[in-house]
Order: sequence, then C-alpha cells, then structure tokens
Amino acid sequence: MTVTSRPQTLDLDALRGQFQGRVIGPNDDDYDTARMVMFGGIDRRPAVVIRVANVDDVKRVIALARETGHELAVRSGGHSAKGDSTTEGGIVLDLHDMTAIDIDPAARTMWAETGNSALAVTQAAAKHGLAIGFGDTGSVGIGGITTGGGVGYLGRKYGLTIDNLLAAEIVTADGELRRADADTNPDLFWAIRGGGGNFGVATRFLYRLADVPAIVGGMLFLPATAEAVERFISLSDEAPPELGTIANVMPCPPMPFVDAKWHGKIVIFGLLCWAGDAESGAKALQPFRDLAKLGGLDAPIADLVHPGTYPDMYPPEDSDYHPLAVSLTGFLDRVDRATAETMMDRLESFDAPMRVVQLRVLGGAISRVPNEATAYAHRASEIMFNVAAFYEGDHDRAEKQAWVEELMASILQTDAGAYVNFLGDEGPERVRAAYPGKTYDRLAEIKRRYDPDNLFRLNQNIPPA
Ligand SMILES: Cc1cc2nc3c(=O)[nH]c(=O)nc-3n(C[C@H](O)[C@H](O)[C@H](O)COP(=O)(O)OP(=O)(O)OC[C@H]3O[C@@H](n4cnc5c(N)ncnc54)[C@H](O)[C@@H]3O)c2cc1C
Repeated sequence: MTVTSRPQTLDLDALRGQFQGRVIGPNDDDYDTARMVMFGGIDRRPAVVIRVANVDDVKRVIALARETGHELAVRSGGHSAKGDSTTEGGIVLDLHDMTAIDIDPAARTMWAETGNSALAVTQAAAKHGLAIGFGDTGSVGIGGITTGGGVGYLGRKYGLTIDNLLAAEIVTADGELRRADADTNPDLFWAIRGGGGNFGVATRFLYRLADVPAIVGGMLFLPATAEAVERFISLSDEAPPELGTIANVMPCPPMPFVDAKWHGKIVIFGLLCWAGDAESGAKALQPFRDLAKLGGLDAPIADLVHPGTYPDMYPPEDSDYHPLAVSLTGFLDRVDRATAETMMDRLESFDAPMRVVQLRVLGGAISRVPNEATAYAHRASEIMFNVAAFYEGDHDRAEKQAWVEELMASILQTDAGAYVNFLGDEGPERVRAAYPGKTYDRLAEIKRRYDPDNLFRLNQNIPPA
C-alpha cells in the first residue's frame, strides 16, 4: 500500500458496513459533538469520525487512512492543546468506546483499553485500594497522557505513569497489532514511554498498581506573597515522597466556598495529595496550612483538604467547558525569592481574568529512573511550570500570548527542556526540547522503522530519520 497524494472521497455508507463501531459523518445529528475536542477555538471538520469498537476496527481505520491518503487523527480523551485529535477533512480514530478494564488485584496489575479516561481507570483501581498516577484532571484520556509521560500527584512516590507501564498493545502503521514490553519489541516499548502518538495506536496498556487505600488531599487556598510561593515550593521539595503538590498562583476564582473578598486577588490555589493515612497526612500538611500566616491570616482562605480516597483528587468536571487558552511549559531549577517575586509582579500587573503560573515539584521516584530508560528524558528536572492565560478571541489572543511569553522568559533558568504533553503548536525546535540528548535521534530512528511514511503525524511530530 502507498500513501496517495490527494485524498479520495469517502463513501460513508459503504464504510458503515465495514466497521463494528460507529461511523459518523457531516450529515449525522451528532457530528458536531463527535468532532469536538476539549479546547475551544479548534473548529475542524473531519471527513469522518470512526468510533472504533475493537482492535480490528483500529486496523481498518489505519488501512483506510493509508489507502485513501486522508490525514489521520487519533483521539483518546481529546485534551491535546494543539488539537491533534481532530483534523480538517481527515479521519478521526476515536477510542472512546474501547473502555474495557481488567484488574488482577493479587498481582496488582490492570489492563485498560485506551478509550478510558484517567478518572475511569482511577475509580476502577480504587475499588481494590489500588492506584496508578495520572495527572490532575480526570477527563484526560489515558492514551495521550500515558504515551507522553504522565506527571501527577503520585509521581514522587511511584514515578510517572510510564514508570508503571508494564506493557502495551499497539497497532503500528503497517496494520499489525504488536505487544511492546521490556522483552518484546523493547525499542517500541522505550519509544511509547514519552514519545507520544508517533509510533502507532495503543489499544490497551498493562499498568502496575500501587497500594493506595487512603489519601489526605484536596484544595488549599492561601494568600500569595513571594515568600509564601517560595516556601510552598521548598516545603513540597522537602516533604516525604508521599506528598504530591501543585501550586497554581493565580487570581482567586469565584468559588462559592471562598469568601468573596478574595475573588480576583492573587492566591496560591494549592492542590495537595498525601498518599497515606490521615494521621501522618495531617502532620505533613500542617506546614502548608501554616503558610496562611505569611499572608496575615490564622488559617487558609479555604481548606478543602480532607481524608478520602485517590479518586477524590479528580473534582467533578463540566463537559461543556471548552476554554480558549495560551500556555507555555518548561522546567525550573528552583523557585527562589527573586523568581517568586517576578511571578507575583507579572501576575499582579496583568488583567486577564484567568492567568496562572502553575508549579509542580518533581524529584523522588521520577528522578531515580535513568534518563535513557524511557523517552521522557527530564529525570533531573526539579520543578515543572506552566504559564497560561485565557483569551476571548482573535482580538486579545496576541496580547495574552505576549504576556505568557514574557513571563516565561523572565523566570527561565538553566533547564531548557519541555514536557511534551504540555506543548502546544510551537514548532519543531520545541519538540526537540522535549527530547534532549540522544533521545530525539533514537526516537527518529525507531519512527523510521515503525512509521516510515509518517502516517502518525498529527502529534508532537518526530519525522522518520
Ligand atoms: C485540563 C488539562 C489538564 C492536564 N493535566 C495534566 C497533568 O496533570 N499531567 C500530565 O502529565 N498531563 C496533563 N495534561 C496534558 C495531557 O496529558 C495531554 O494533553 C494528553 O495528550 C491528553 O491526552 P488525551 O488522550 O486526553 O488527548 P487526545 O487529544 O485524545 O490525544 C492527544 C495525542 O495523544 C496521542 N494519543 C492519544 N491516544 C493515543 C493512543 N491510544 N495511542 C497512541 N497515541 C495516542 C495522539 O498523538 C493524540 O494526538 C493536561 C491537559 C489538560 C487539557
């Protein structure tokens, strides 16, 4: 089979007879829902969305894209900031209906099909007192987050999502279903642990699960001062690895449980998760609660941190939420007072209703994996940051983008890397930044072997060597 230069017209009626899953075209009532992705401002009209039902359907979609020359978009949870899980005029392979989960509680392992969300998998594991760490948002698909790395609350104790990936089944560009693990196709297994969607369509993952029967976690709102931001980060760094934190330094959202006098003021919207019992959690979390004193308060502005189970870390979400956002990501070596002051200054002096510097302390189990062991090669990076602002439309996008860029430039230190899953549409140099050292060249070589025609190119693309 060769990739033709101009796509043939697709006969959707004929296609319907060939797939067990749903074939959704522009004339179907649910076409507009089916073509939608999480971020707003991405309004592409695919020729067809195929909601695959099984591995055979996945193979057929891949063959269809190859034979007809249509651009192929692969969708698990639809959260790509670049909009890679949809296409103008191409084919969307949508995994939403492939949601089987099979847990072996004694072995502490789980097979999960890649149409699952992080929340669905987390809830299933929690029934057995077990957990696998993804990120901070339940609706993110396991397909995208796992192939990119997976940075979340459990990382310092148990590593990234990929550090708990034991095997994957993946349909490559030639239509073959391959197993990838430490012994079978080890090069492919290395590449899909951080290399994103470049190598095929993962249909299911085998995860190692950890014993996490209880947590203490939730949201903590603190007055933001440069000293408080600096301390929040140093406390996170010094804490036992059971503690994972995210500090969102941002205008306080108008949440009902927050006194209205704080709405719009710059606060630390902290997300904390202690993967352990209530008593030790209370002890570990007290220093964070005490940071309220730096802002002149006896107690945090709002304290929703409480004992629970790991799925509690995923608050309910509104499926109609489609924000317009500009963002940039990078790594910091430290957040010292000067860095925190710069962040506070830029946040205070801008007026976008939603603007944020998000800080995540890494280290622990994440940093104990050698850089060359997976395609995520930022193991020594200390702190991940994201700078983001929401915009309303074309009239204010450039202004918000300029603010994000200036802020990032003003805080950047020596670490020039980037986490692939937080990249937007930023060009080839930033994709290279995601794969430092020999990682990029090794990925390009593996891409040449498994996808020489670059069929899987709607992603943070690594062209074949
Ligand atoms: C609100 C929000 C919060 C986030 N929080 C975190 C976080 O805390 N930690 C973190 O690590 N990341 C986080 N992310 C980033 C997230 O991991 C990436 O955007 C990820 O790619 C989304 O996966 P998805 O399946 O939902 O997206 P999709 O848009 O469906 O897929 C994105 C890309 O992943 C690839 N892909 C998807 N499924 C498969 C598959 N089955 N096989 C092969 N390739 C596939 C494809 O290249 C696809 O283009 C967040 C993103 C958002 C929008």
